[in-house]
Amino acid sequence: MLKKGKKTRAWEAARKRLKARYMNLGITSCEMRLKDCMGTFGLSFAHRYKRSDSRCEHTFEKTCLACASCHGKTEYNRELNEEVFTRLRGEE
Ligand SMILES: [Zn+2]
Repeated sequence: MLKKGKKTRAWEAARKRLKARYMNLGITSCEMRLKDCMGTFGLSFAHRYKRSDSRCEHTFEKTCLACASCHGKTEYNRELNEEVFTRLRGEE
């Protein structure tokens, strides 16, 4: 097994804080709401910038809650991802 890298461990810690933040805000289902949105199915945090991007931040402003379907759609579609984040979190 590969040892977990620094980035992975930092993300795991940040994810716990984010979960609490989202819970406090009452966000418990997919925010993206794209076509074929699955609501609460396979929820996870989507990043405005990928974790491999130096601009990536594990903050509320740079993440959103996404279902499996929406996350999959935006994961490899930078334009769509940016569009969704602009709608949800505003311009960069
Ligand atoms: Zn969705």
